[in-house]
Amino acid sequence: MADLDVPVLVVGGGGCGLSASLFLSDLGVEHLLVERHATTSHLPKAHYLNQRTMEIFRQHGVADAVYAVGAPIEKFGKVRWQTSLGGDGELDRRTIFEMEAFGGGSLRARYEADSPGPAGNYPQVRLEPLLRRLATERAPGRIRYHHEVLDWEQVDGAVVATVHDRDADTRYRIRARYLIAADGGKTFGPRLGVEMVGPTNMLDMVSTHFSADLSEHWDDGSLITWFLNPEGESSWGAGAMVQMGPTWGRDSEEWVVHFGFRPDDPERFNSDAIVPRLRELLRLPELDPTVHQVSHWILDRIVAERWRIGDIFLAGDAAHRQPPTTGLGLNTGIQDVHNLAWKLAQVLAGHAGDALLDSYQLERLPVSTHGADWALLAFMNHFVIDAGIGLVPGAPVEANTEAFRALFSDTPIGAALRARAEVCIGTQAWEFQAHDVELGYAYPAEGALLADGSAVPARDPRGGHYVPTTRPGHRLPHAWLAGPDGRPVSTHDLVGDQGRFVLLIGSDGGRWRAAAVDAGAKLGVEIPVVEVGAAGSADYQDPDGRWADLREVSEAGAVLVRPDNHVAFRSAVDPGDPTGRLTDALASVLGR
Ligand SMILES: Cc1cc2nc3c(=O)[nH]c(=O)nc-3n(C[C@H](O)[C@H](O)[C@H](O)COP(=O)(O)OP(=O)(O)OC[C@H]3O[C@@H](n4cnc5c(N)ncnc54)[C@H](O)[C@@H]3O)c2cc1C
Repeated sequence: MADLDVPVLVVGGGGCGLSASLFLSDLGVEHLLVERHATTSHLPKAHYLNQRTMEIFRQHGVADAVYAVGAPIEKFGKVRWQTSLGGDGELDRRTIFEMEAFGGGSLRARYEADSPGPAGNYPQVRLEPLLRRLATERAPGRIRYHHEVLDWEQVDGAVVATVHDRDADTRYRIRARYLIAADGGKTFGPRLGVEMVGPTNMLDMVSTHFSADLSEHWDDGSLITWFLNPEGESSWGAGAMVQMGPTWGRDSEEWVVHFGFRPDDPERFNSDAIVPRLRELLRLPELDPTVHQVSHWILDRIVAERWRIGDIFLAGDAAHRQPPTTGLGLNTGIQDVHNLAWKLAQVLAGHAGDALLDSYQLERLPVSTHGADWALLAFMNHFVIDAGIGLVPGAPVEANTEAFRALFSDTPIGAALRARAEVCIGTQAWEFQAHDVELGYAYPAEGALLADGSAVPARDPRGGHYVPTTRPGHRLPHAWLAGPDGRPVSTHDLVGDQGRFVLLIGSDGGRWRAAAVDAGAKLGVEIPVVEVGAAGSADYQDPDGRWADLREVSEAGAVLVRPDNHVAFRSAVDPGDPTGRLTDALASVLGR
């Protein structure tokens, strides 16, 4: 006998588990979240929230809270490479390269055109408390910190978990129809024997979170700075530093610096060496930082071979762990549970078959594999930068000093070296301008959709150039529309936050209205129909014709959008039997 019955048990109160709770609450799915620690994480891990995540947060009423306290794009839309922050030596305080990043600077217009909001930057150490507060407001009494899942069994279409209430030191049993293991890979995957595929243990990264006043030295708009100098072994060995707020820009009170070590280097545990190393790296001998935390993380690029084990679903770091480059860790985790939550809601409401839950792995595993590969590519590319500026890892300091002198020299060879550095460092756009990696991913024909036979569009191999499309499986293109009261509404706002589908039609699409009623009635799902167009009678106006440019269907066609703003089905024209087509599409999506 269980002490408690819930439709969904979420294990893990990190960014992924808390997001799952928020989405489930909005979808009206009763659930419980348990987290073994008493508090959210003290580790300064993720900070960059890409546009897709912010769209999801917008859909679920979280984005404004993040924008209100996170860094504005003017304060984080750039990254830099320089020799040091201080010092008066001939090679000190030299800027090697600057790059626009995350949709800042001249990237801004393109990023703004493609999504209803900018990317965000808010360190996980502060984001998790914010998410916890919102999750608790939406599910009072259901977010339980200091409760640890000790054990579980899968029986008769349920997962029965034994939980330790660490405050009361008591145990209780929860019977859940489904379980989301957002446990960072600590508990479920390993005990279920799920293989994590890919290279692991590549580097030990030591992150030092500290407070210091660097306002005199820091470039105001830059989020991350790499320090490259003749003494550094490589950009990762030398150190990368990130502003952590809570005030943004040069006045940031907190910072994190990452040093990379070989996993067998005993020096990596020498915490006494950290402050001297920091002073030396920054060339600020007087620096007196308050160190909050020194943490280690091992560089992996691993993806779970199975994401569904019976009624247990792995999500977030439990399903994939990758280098932090491109910031795809937490972002992918939030997007995982966004994909899963509406499917659980549909199945629990009796609208969908079990196959809809199988589509979770079918859709997310390839996206996450690509993300993990991309993160590794971006990580390794930093070694291209070292070579590009002439830094030879392991060479005598004198040799590397000469290389730096040459790089900055006012000579023809200096100009040539700088031009080469620009080309090489420019390839780090793969990491910092990965607009298509972030927005352009699509789910395959086997997913919860009805494919239309169109060819998979080629993607920019550099990951930057995103081409919006309504091809089934792709993220719905964003366009600003004018709502009935004239207010701007994104195409992304039309599905709302409660798990509904929407059928977008044009001015000649009237027959789809009856089709939506009939198909919806057959499958027990309501399908609101929204006419978008220039006609005065349209539900939403397309003021500048942007949606007409993006929709890739005629005025008589239709686009069926899933609750997660991915396209489920489209018809370029009136197919003759719109009810039949829409019924097929919905049945295919819902696994019926
Ligand atoms: C230096 C660094 C920088 C990064 N930068 C970025 C970035 O800019 N953008 C980005 O998207 N990602 C970034 N990441 C990655 C990101 O931090 C992780 O992907 C993210 O924390 C994963 O969240 P999660 O909720 O899946 O897992 P976790 O944060 O690991 O949370 C899992 C939780 O489950 C709990 N748990 C485990 N077992 C049990 C149990 N049996 N019972 C109850 N609770 C349990 C744990 O205590 C933990 O709190 C970065 C990572 C690092 C190290």
